[in-house]
Amino acid sequence: MIDKLLIFTRSLVTLSLVSGGIALQASTLPQGAHGTIALLPIESSEVASVVFQERPQLIVGNVAIVRIPLFMTSGETDVKVSYQDGRSENVAIKVLDREYPEERITVTDQEHVTPSTANLERIREESARMRAAYNLFTEQPLDLLPIIQPIEGRTSGVFGSRRFFNDQPRNPHSGIDWAAPTGTPIKNPTPGTVVVVGDFFFNGKTVMIDHGGGFISMMCHLSEILVTEGQRIDRSKVIGKVGTTGRSTGPHLHWSVSLSGERTDPAVFMATLNALYDEAE
Ligand SMILES: [Zn+2]
Repeated sequence: MIDKLLIFTRSLVTLSLVSGGIALQASTLPQGAHGTIALLPIESSEVASVVFQERPQLIVGNVAIVRIPLFMTSGETDVKVSYQDGRSENVAIKVLDREYPEERITVTDQEHVTPSTANLERIREESARMRAAYNLFTEQPLDLLPIIQPIEGRTSGVFGSRRFFNDQPRNPHSGIDWAAPTGTPIKNPTPGTVVVVGDFFFNGKTVMIDHGGGFISMMCHLSEILVTEGQRIDRSKVIGKVGTTGRSTGPHLHWSVSLSGERTDPAVFMATLNALYDEAE
């Protein structure tokens, strides 16, 4: 999947751009699968915004990164491109299906599967706080690339897997997991501002980072947090250490990537954007 996306990216960025508009042939309609992204070439100096599903999208150089929700109708749909001079146009993209694996997990603490009423209240408050952070849309980033992987480690959980905890169906996995020893330093993947620091029921010790343009990272299950809310942090800054706090079966890092309010496959996102970076070098 990632390989295909990379090849696609390379062909897409070589598309010719015409002044004030986008030259697209029918055969090269921008496309992205559920839970991933579609790349739309733009002339960023002339574009004011790229809006999909009524939400502005991330722009990196001369490419709009249109996030495709895990759950939406597949087929052709429109993205609205608005220009500095007041004009706007709809551009077609194609949404593709993607298969996601099923995953069965056993947790020893039944409270993490079927929480008590008191914990449900706590979970609701925490969800509202995370949702508010995911809905932030601050200035487009100027120094997004490259995006560095926050830790080295074996991938122990992939994005989008349909999860069952102790045989109970739960939400699909919202990020990527890497197994690593407790205490492993976690690096900030790309510059940003810390917007949430918390100790949450499911996610354990958690840091959320606003990277701009609607791109928000969430790092979960930490043993220790080394940043504070409001702190501006550079790429590679150590934000905390790997742990197993919250609903977790062993020390690992969970990284969620959210784009304009939708969780997106971090592996595809990182590989695709870093390919753009390599292309530009
Ligand atoms: Zn996870």
